[in-house]
Amino acid sequence: MKYSIPKGTFDILPHEPKEEDWWRLSHHWEYLESVIRTVAHDFGFSEIRTPIFERSELFVRAVGEASDIVSKEMYTFEDRGGRSLTLRPEGTACVMRAFVEKNLHQLGGPHKYFYISPMFRYERPQAGRYRQHHQFGCEAIGIKSPEQDVEMIEMVCELFRRLGLKDLTVMVNSVGSADSRDTYREALRTFLEPQLASLSKDSQHRFEKNVLRILDSKDEGDQKILENAPLITDFLDEESKEHFDTVCTLLEKIGLNFIINPKLVRGLDYYNKTVFEITSSSLGAHNALGGGGRYDGMTKLFGGPDLPAVGFGSGLERILQTMMKHDIAFPLPKAPFVYLVPMGDAAHTFCFETLCQLRRNHIPAEMDFSGKKVKYGLQQADSLNAHYCVVIGDDELNTSIVKLKALATRTEEETSLSTLIETLKRSWNAHTLAAR
Ligand code: AMP
Repeated sequence: MKYSIPKGTFDILPHEPKEEDWWRLSHHWEYLESVIRTVAHDFGFSEIRTPIFERSELFVRAVGEASDIVSKEMYTFEDRGGRSLTLRPEGTACVMRAFVEKNLHQLGGPHKYFYISPMFRYERPQAGRYRQHHQFGCEAIGIKSPEQDVEMIEMVCELFRRLGLKDLTVMVNSVGSADSRDTYREALRTFLEPQLASLSKDSQHRFEKNVLRILDSKDEGDQKILENAPLITDFLDEESKEHFDTVCTLLEKIGLNFIINPKLVRGLDYYNKTVFEITSSSLGAHNALGGGGRYDGMTKLFGGPDLPAVGFGSGLERILQTMMKHDIAFPLPKAPFVYLVPMGDAAHTFCFETLCQLRRNHIPAEMDFSGKKVKYGLQQADSLNAHYCVVIGDDELNTSIVKLKALATRTEEETSLSTLIETLKRSWNAHTLAAR
């Protein structure tokens, strides 16, 4: 019986034969994650890791019953103790649960957290949409100043800058307070009601449950109807309006190009005031690289103090796919500095001891354990992109002289067996210094 991977998921592997799948190469993920960590630390965010599953109720409360995530996308199961648990579909609710449960607000701020985690959503698998995807997310809790919103937007843009992404669009909007949103919802319903029958089936369904989501519809007919719809920005309360104006002014001041998209509402219930989304023109239908917004008060919903907060999430798959579309060069996978090829039993033992010594000296090293001919070992050294290849057989053991072959230049240098480790240590130090 051969097993296959579940629908909508993928393996992250060190090898991918097809070029279009290279975004799944594990060293690309390692590189992306290392840049993310550097940027997050540069902006003063600390890592947080929460369990991969939570009580289902947590997401129902925070994300909202009418949201797509809760109404149709959650991986919910009952455990053996009869509890309803859900594989995490998004990160914010989990971070806020941990924050409130551990009373982190009692510690000195700033409360700025980031995570890189898999997320699970039962969606129809297609390009850019998976049932398990991975998000880099950040949450900043306790600051209501618009600077915090702008710091978030700037951080995700700085990440994309450092990765070399271009042709991105930053869209911002304000969804106001819960009250102003209620008023807007009614206005939108009143506007759409006479045209209900002309809306797409999906939008008709959303009309009752989550009318704001109709604004997100990709259906052309819906978009035509929406052309004259009332705009949420005309319904903002004074505080939200002022907050949004300052966010826009600050974005202008730091030279961050953005557009105001009054139809941007995002799918989750918990947002208030600022929302934002960054899209890439290189992706197809699912072009959002990341998005977020303010969710003041979620801490209170979870039984903690009433604190402001702002956050965002960005999909690693889509970032990597965009990088590939832009032909951005990734660093090469880590290669061994030394590849040892033994000939004969005595050389095998000697090489194995040398291999362990090299690694204990922090030098990346590999050895051919296969027992095949030297030619095979040399091919392996080449395919792994080793810096040096060293062949050791009875001759080398008898004469105590060994050749270090630099594979890139095909040049050789001789050294004595007794000083082999010392020679390689010196050479490795010079190599790492030059690479800095
Ligand atoms: P959302 O919370 O839905 O705005 O998701 C945040 C980001 O995660 C999106 O902007 C995408 O980059 C990514 N994302 C969301 N859902 C998926 C999915 N099913 N597959 C791949 N990436 C996703």
